[in-house]
Order: sequence, then C-alpha cells, then structure tokens
Amino acid sequence: MDKKYEVVIGLEVHVQLKTRTKLFSRVPYFFGEPPNTLIDEVVLGLPGTLPVLNQAAVLKTVAVGCMFGCTIARKCKWDRKNYFYPDAPKNYQISQLDQPLCSGGFVEIELEGAARNLQGIHRKVALNRIHLEEDVGKLTHFADESRIDFNRAGTPLIEIVSEPDMHSPEEVFAYLKSLEMHLRYIDASDCDMEKGQMRCDANVSIRPIGATKLGTKVELKNLNSISGVCNGIRHEIQRQICVVESGETIVQETRRWDAEKNTSTSMRSKENAHDYRYFTDPDLFPITLSEAQIEEQRRSIPELPFAKQERYFNELHLPYTVTSVLCPEKSLSDFLEATLAIYPKNPSASANWIANDLLRECGHQPLSASQVTPQHLADLVRLVDEGVLSKQNAKEVFVEVSRTGIPPQQVMREKGLEVKIDHDALQALCQEIIAAFPKPVAEYRAGKEKALNVLKGQLMKKTQGKVPIGALEQALIACLKG
Ligand code: ADP
Ligand code: MG
Repeated sequence: MDKKYEVVIGLEVHVQLKTRTKLFSRVPYFFGEPPNTLIDEVVLGLPGTLPVLNQAAVLKTVAVGCMFGCTIARKCKWDRKNYFYPDAPKNYQISQLDQPLCSGGFVEIELEGAARNLQGIHRKVALNRIHLEEDVGKLTHFADESRIDFNRAGTPLIEIVSEPDMHSPEEVFAYLKSLEMHLRYIDASDCDMEKGQMRCDANVSIRPIGATKLGTKVELKNLNSISGVCNGIRHEIQRQICVVESGETIVQETRRWDAEKNTSTSMRSKENAHDYRYFTDPDLFPITLSEAQIEEQRRSIPELPFAKQERYFNELHLPYTVTSVLCPEKSLSDFLEATLAIYPKNPSASANWIANDLLRECGHQPLSASQVTPQHLADLVRLVDEGVLSKQNAKEVFVEVSRTGIPPQQVMREKGLEVKIDHDALQALCQEIIAAFPKPVAEYRAGKEKALNVLKGQLMKKTQGKVPIGALEQALIACLKG
C-alpha cells in the first residue's frame, strides 16, 4: 500500500444460522428448494399473523458470542427496521438496533508466517457487536423483469460487526477465514458464501499515517466471495488514494462492487438509522436469558482450533504442516483424539495417517465416506510399531480397511502381509550381540536408553534389514531384561 496512508477497515458480516426452522415461524429451511415453497403466512407477513420466537436461534447466537468472548445481554428487545422494498413483504425487517444480544469480544486471526508451512502471526480483531435478525427474500433481476424467492425470508441471520480494526486486505482475508472456521467448528453455520450463507459488507477509509481521527468511510456491497472482498477492498483503497491525491474529498457513500469489471459504482449516499424509522416491535416480548442459560452455552464451546493447534504442538509435538490440516476441522481432530485414546503411543504416526491417507481416501467427501474407525487406525499404528506389519504394506492394508471396513489384522492375514519372524533365531541373535558388546549392554542396564541404538544397529546389520525395527527392538529389550 501507499506509505503515506493508513488503511482502516471494518466489516459487517451476515451469517445464516443453522437452525431447523425460521426465526419467527415453524417453516423449515433448506438451501436449493424450488422458489417460494418454504413459506407461510408469517413469512409473507399476511395481516393478522404474529411472530413466535425460535429459541434455538437465540441460544445459537449466544454460543457464537461466548466463543468470541462477547458480553451477552440478559435482556434485549426487538426492533422494526422499516423500509419499502419487494424483498420484505411486511415493509419491515425484525432486527436489533441498540440492544444487541452480544457486545464486544474479538476474533483471533492468523496472518501468513514468514515462511510457508510455518505458524503465522496471530492477532485479535475487536468486535463491536453481534445481533440477531431475520433474513429477507432474494430478488433476482433479469433484462425486463425481477423475480422474488421468499424461501430464505425469515431465516435467522446474525450480523457480526467488527470495530474499524483491520488495516489491509490480507487481514480481512484472515478474518473471514477465521470467522468461517470458528462458526463451522461449533456448527453455527456452514458459511458457504456461494450459497449466500455468509455475506459481507466492507467499510473502508484511509487517513494520513499518524492521524488519530478516522477518515470518511465508504461502504462496499455485493462482495460475493472471500477473494472478491479482498479485490474490492484493494480497488477501493486505490480509488480513495486517487481522490485524495487529486485534492478532492471522499464522499461517504455505499458503492456496489462489480467483480467482473473489477470496478465499483456509487449506489447511494449515506443513510442513517433515522431513515429506517426504527421502533420497538410491539408483537414480541424482549428476549430474556438467565445466567444459567448463558453459562450452559459457554460450557458447550469446545477447545477452539487455534488453542488446539498450540496444544498439539506443545504436547504431542506435531508439526504445523499436520496441525494446520487437522485442527480447523473438528471431525479430523476428534478422530485423532479418539485414536490416541485407544493407542496413545505414536501421535505423529496417527496424525499423519489422518492428514494424508484418510483425507486422500475421502476426497472431497466427509470422513464418513471412509470405513476406517479410530479403532482400526489405532490397531494399524500398533501393528507397525510392533513390527508385525511393514510401513509399506500398511499402506495397502489401510486402503482396504478404508474401502471395506474389515479390521486391519484380518486384512493383513488374508493378504499374507504379516511379517514372518523366526523368534527363536532372533532371540539367538540377540544373545550373540549382547555377549559381543558388553559396554552398551552395561550402559543400557544402568539406565542409558540411548545405548540401545548401538545394539539395534548391530542387530539390523545381522538381519540385513529384513526384520522390522519394532520387532527387533522388542526382542532386544526382552533379552536384555530376561
Ligand atoms: P454506521 O453508523 O454508518 O452504521 P457504524 O459506526 O455502525 O456506522 O459502523 C459500521 C461499520 O463500519 C463497522 O464495521 C465499523 O467498524 C466500520 N467503520 C466505522 N467507521 C469507519 C471508518 N472510518 N473506516 C472504516 N470502517 C469504519
Ligand atoms: Mg451502525
């Protein structure tokens, strides 16, 4: 960016909550149904209908707030945001103006590290608020007509408003990725921007480096993908710099991003809260939450991905290349932990099987596409560790287990892949080596574990690499102790 200016960005992100039914009626919601089939009198705002609150949506919003460290309101009202447009048949949208369910908090983001495959730099982006509102219908404009689909109208939508606390398109990218990861993690939303489950408006301003007062902001709309958001912002920064450099002033306005033409056009000048004639919705009681209800949601939040990643590094010594695959996806780290609960000895082997082989077997499908269970994986890793199965053959066994669900031991035996070890001959060899190398033997017996490597090396030479290391080690230790 330009050295003379500091960029300031705040985002307003709308996310569709994953609930079975809409926010104020019992109509279910799914994506991709035929237009106007998921509607009822309440959704269409027919006279005489009344909204009935879906409590599940409130609790899910509270969970999101707890995850991001927000303060949760014990009581808050609903407001009508009045406007006249075909996407809102009631001529108002039920929202929360000055009593959001969640206030403050932050979203932790990870910016790319100094080198690829290394842990990046982490920082916290401050949140202003998260409130709950109903979504409106979807208008599609054609050459000579416009069509409206009310299927998504009335579905619960949370609006996550950040403070003006980001300073580059890269930070915005990391922020949106982090939001997506965290919201998926607790199953609050699928956050698919292509399906409109996550939508983003970006507020952008610039100011001379060192200035304390914020510059005039411009709001960008119609940003349809994460890369689209970043491109739109990049373009807007350059546009504002050009305006300022040519001696003109930035006008506060809303601009529409056109990703195809890589440019933006003015939609409207600033609108204010009073343009919407907000007032408290008289049809709904305020939301009230007990401390116990909030606490229950707080307790439901699992260990979050960044914290998990750090723990895997510190406690299991797993490298970033592996943790950055396993941690963002709860099903993957759950699989690892279930495997380690059965066989805790070799976390790095288990993690690698999941991050490489299991994911390859599943392709783009969920984990359940593979028949492998944590029990299977634990058994497989143990077989290799014990020297009963070579690493090479384990790959073949894994693929078979994944496709058939037959336990690894059985696959190994049926395919004749079990390593045949002549235990008597191996024991004799061990005795021979123990007799020939008294020094490392004495050291090992005195507690110096490393001395075992010398003996293992000799044994490998004798067996010409034909017996797996795990088996050699077991035989050797048995002889040394026996
Ligand atoms: P409004 O009153 O226009 O709704 P808000 O203060 O509620 O504005 O902020 C809306 C969004 O714009 C927030 O995400 C906020 O962080 C962001 N924002 C506010 N002022 C600026 C600014 N000067 N530059 C960039 N973003 C800003
Ligand atoms: Mg505002």
